[in-house]
Amino acid sequence: MSTFAHTEEDARLRQALSLLSATLESTADGILVVGADGRISSLNNQFLSMWGIPRELAATGDNEALLAFVLGQLANPDQFLAKVNALFADPEAESHDVLHFRDGRIFERYSRPQQVDDRVVGRVWSFRDVTEARRAQDRITQAMAALAAQASQLKALAFQDALTGLSNRQLFEDRLAYALAGPCGTAVDVLLLDLDDFKEVNDIHGHHAGDQMLIEVGRRLRASVRPSDVVARLGGDEFVILLVGSLDADAAAARIVESLKAPVWLDGTMLRPSLSMGLASISDDAVDASELVRRADIAMYAAKAAGKNRYLRFRPEMLSALLERTQLEAGLRAAVDSGEIVVHYQPIVSSRLGTVVKVEALARWERDGALVPPEQFIPTAERSGLIVEIGTEVLLRGCTELKAWLAADPTRSLAVNVSGVQLQQGHFPELLFATAGSCGVDPHQLVVEVTESVFFDDDCQVRRQLAQLRSAGVRVALDDFGTGYSSLGRLQELPVDTLKIDQSFVAMIRTGQERLPILNSMIDMAHGLGLTVTAEGVETREQAEYLVRRGCDSLQGFLFSRPQPADTLPEALAASARTISDLRADTAAQTLRVL
Ligand code: C2E
Ligand code: MG
Ligand code: MG
Repeated sequence: MSTFAHTEEDARLRQALSLLSATLESTADGILVVGADGRISSLNNQFLSMWGIPRELAATGDNEALLAFVLGQLANPDQFLAKVNALFADPEAESHDVLHFRDGRIFERYSRPQQVDDRVVGRVWSFRDVTEARRAQDRITQAMAALAAQASQLKALAFQDALTGLSNRQLFEDRLAYALAGPCGTAVDVLLLDLDDFKEVNDIHGHHAGDQMLIEVGRRLRASVRPSDVVARLGGDEFVILLVGSLDADAAAARIVESLKAPVWLDGTMLRPSLSMGLASISDDAVDASELVRRADIAMYAAKAAGKNRYLRFRPEMLSALLERTQLEAGLRAAVDSGEIVVHYQPIVSSRLGTVVKVEALARWERDGALVPPEQFIPTAERSGLIVEIGTEVLLRGCTELKAWLAADPTRSLAVNVSGVQLQQGHFPELLFATAGSCGVDPHQLVVEVTESVFFDDDCQVRRQLAQLRSAGVRVALDDFGTGYSSLGRLQELPVDTLKIDQSFVAMIRTGQERLPILNSMIDMAHGLGLTVTAEGVETREQAEYLVRRGCDSLQGFLFSRPQPADTLPEALAASARTISDLRADTAAQTLRVL
């Protein structure tokens, strides 16, 4: 019985042991059991392979040797050794930590006492290789961080202007809506601004320079207001500033205009940015965002119309000016249809010949018995496209009314102003040839005056048409030269025959004794390029004498004659001829006296 009982007990024990060893071997953890005497009492194969322990070493059961082997692989062996010693001194302690290997592997370590009944008989160490899991975790953490960075970048981009780093329209609109929903009585001001003639900077100096200019302007705007104010670029050369709770928006506006006065240097060229700005503030009758922006916009246009490079605060009268402009356009259309556009002529004298060699045709609008000057209707005509019909009418009238004068001397010519809008149509030469042909005027006797702006953004259409005109004998004059962002250096590549120096340069001549290097170099440079030079706006004898002395080929201005209608032109021509020949005689006498 007892034998039987014994055998039964043995079998159970064997079964338990085999279950234990099977479990030990099937776990992914490396397990080591060390007895209280410090000798290894058990370990599994996984433990040996994880630590790379030779089987022979394990077979010695020498705990010390095993420990030395283990320590050699760790990045921080002292720390591990201290832990082992601490646990040896405290047999009942449980502990857990992470081991870093020199080769980069990472193990998690658990250690707990081995107990039989209540007695501690040894210690179980288990190790788990978590290298892959940790790496995967690190990769996930990194990916999450990158995603978070990307998301915040995207969020910033959604509200940021990429070129200048300023806010964009979206952010401005959000902030404006927020400000308007804020406490009653808070000042809210919108400043809308647009760079004057920015297109010319882009076209003459290139897009890179244009971008640099926008960046610099953005920087100056930002520096002119408080950090809490929103400065946004709406697109192109349009910016907007939102001031909330500002005590003096006018002072801020004045500061901004002032800040742009300092020149900008772009690739060695000095440019002076200028802006037109409209200011609108929250008030009893303007409480919503769109009305505020609309008012700032109207004020900005008023600032442009008032001569640019300034700011204007919105006033209700500006609305009536806007209305007037709309009415002007309607009136102009009717005027074109009913023949109210007439032409006046201004003689241009030759300083060498002492005679009138050319006449410039200038459009006038006869409205209710008064003459509307071109400054007041040409811009509207260009905006609405009516300039095409007006230009055609001026050419036709000019050829008709001056036919006889031109026929009397083949060296005489008629100059007409041609707007860029007319050239954009692409068939201006055909129209000119047909009109001249129908009046019997030789194209050699026609001069087309264009301003430099027609060459901006030119996709060769303009150059092609001007070349076509020139090959048929028509001459091309560059009008108002020296204004805007023009440069002498560019003259060389333009298909023109004559340079018309703008009145503003002629006005610099007062006594005729001053030094005028820019004017002089314009004349010299044009001559150097084989162009003839006409001076515009000659009003005094001193100016005429100076220009003749400097070798200017022809002169035009009130000194000789104001623009005249066709019927009084003969007298004006005669008077102009007399003035120039007297002047030449005097100059000749002076020269003789000097000699
Ligand atoms: P512009 O082509 O430069 O014409 C010269 C302008 O200077 C004319 O002004 C003329 O009256 C003015 N002027 C001439 N001599 C003097 C002077 O001694 N002193 C002063 N202060 N001014 C003088 P206007 O006739 O008022 O024309 C202004 C501008 O309107 C023209 O400048 C031209 O750009 C434009 N324009 C006139 N007619 C036409 C046209 O038929 N078509 C186009 N596209 N533009 C035109
Ligand atoms: Mg002209
Ligand atoms: Mg001019």
